[in-house]
Amino acid sequence: MSVIRENDFIQSIADALQFISYYHPVDYITQLGRAYELEQSPAAKDAIAQILHNSRMCAEGHRPICQDTGIVNAFLKVGLEVRWDSKRAPAELVDEGVRRAYTDPDNPLRSSIVDDPLFARRNTGDNTPAVTYVEIVAGDGVEVTLAAKGGGSENKSTFKVLNPSDSLVDWVLETVPTLGAGWCPPGILGIGVGGTAEKAMLLAKQSLLEPVDIQELLARGASTKLDELRLELYEKINALGIGAQGLGGLTTVLDVKIRTYPTHAASKPVAMIPNCAATRHVHFRLDGSGPASFDPPSLASWPKVAARTGQRSRPVDLGRLTRADVKSWRAGETLLLSGALLTGRDTAHRKIAEMLTSGQALPLGLDFIDRVIYYVGPVDAVRGEAVGPAGPTTASRMDKFTATMLEKAGLLAMIGKGERGPEVIEAIRRYGAAYLIAVGGAAYLISKAIRRARVVAFPELGMEAVCEFEVQDMPVTVAVDSTGASVHHTGPVFWREKIRSSS
Ligand code: SF4
Repeated sequence: MSVIRENDFIQSIADALQFISYYHPVDYITQLGRAYELEQSPAAKDAIAQILHNSRMCAEGHRPICQDTGIVNAFLKVGLEVRWDSKRAPAELVDEGVRRAYTDPDNPLRSSIVDDPLFARRNTGDNTPAVTYVEIVAGDGVEVTLAAKGGGSENKSTFKVLNPSDSLVDWVLETVPTLGAGWCPPGILGIGVGGTAEKAMLLAKQSLLEPVDIQELLARGASTKLDELRLELYEKINALGIGAQGLGGLTTVLDVKIRTYPTHAASKPVAMIPNCAATRHVHFRLDGSGPASFDPPSLASWPKVAARTGQRSRPVDLGRLTRADVKSWRAGETLLLSGALLTGRDTAHRKIAEMLTSGQALPLGLDFIDRVIYYVGPVDAVRGEAVGPAGPTTASRMDKFTATMLEKAGLLAMIGKGERGPEVIEAIRRYGAAYLIAVGGAAYLISKAIRRARVVAFPELGMEAVCEFEVQDMPVTVAVDSTGASVHHTGPVFWREKIRSSS
């Protein structure tokens, strides 16, 4: 009989969450380094280089890989021969560990959880509660697997009940292009097949927690039908040409994981969940001998990558930016922004759009005329930082407010990640504006370009407040230019055709 002490369990959860906030799994780094070597698309190669640089900086600096430090998923397997030295339920202890990790003063993590998903949507302030699953198994220990899933990739979770005769491959190949780039590829696709609706989703999520090992499978060859299916999907998904950040390129997925479970004869439930550039998960076992310990990966695990691999970037002075300047930018061009820009994301956009459409004045000091907005919700700063990790959030969530921001607020350009919808592209064309992208999953690297930050409006929104950032040489790519050309369309089309013609 093992006795699991309450504080050992809580501290292990907290230490594990801190560990995965700044250390990528080594298998992910190895596979991403390989993708970097193979990549021929300059834009995708540059994006992968930024993700790898960011990853190493986070490992050295013990700061989060991404500003979205995720919703915690905890999978517990509790042995029958375990006794808990605690009066609290395991899920409560997990939450205590989450609270401890996310409010750690040395490396505070962003709290992203809202308590009431339908109405108030008030941030709980400590990233609790986690989503915890407890399974009772044979044995005398507690197996814990933790993941911190970012919203951008979690939002692309997909489920369908296929007919038994329908093809899983067809469904995946139809569905992946519809996910867009908001899940920050390249990453890993987890697929669950069978059981019931909720079981298939759980299988997809759990499959993402397995090692990234498709290269080993390619080397040894398939020995089961499931191996064959993984290899087929891996090759066919990458042949779609979506590429890193959806810019077009050779690698969209680093691995495809599949889990199955028996199902009803009339059903074939299928679920797909991506893991993004901020792949964060860890496993440990408690046997009553004390808290878990975690071995940091060697810095030699990170491949050497060039600082910038793409074309020469155009310097942009945000203090002198005019609509004529913006109209001269072309989709695919890279820029280095210097000067002041504003920030804002979902809640701020909703408030601003309501004020603008109802004729109310914006808060004092908030003026978007001829300005650039960055869709971001940074991590709190520590130790003299201007801001904590501050990468872009998914721009499509701002789509419904964008025409108003361009027309009524006078905005010149926006920075985010992922593609925009057709109405937004049309509005960008109509108002001679532009949409720029920064690399999702390179948040700490990007934060180093931010020299000063101050809150301008809505301080009560916390990380969603509107701030002014003073940036120096912030690297971005023009994703949609003032003619309406979009790299998220042209890039994948070009690379899909290039891959097709060379195979
Ligand atoms: S890498 Fe992209 S999808 Fe993943 S947590 Fe960060 S912003 Fe979200």
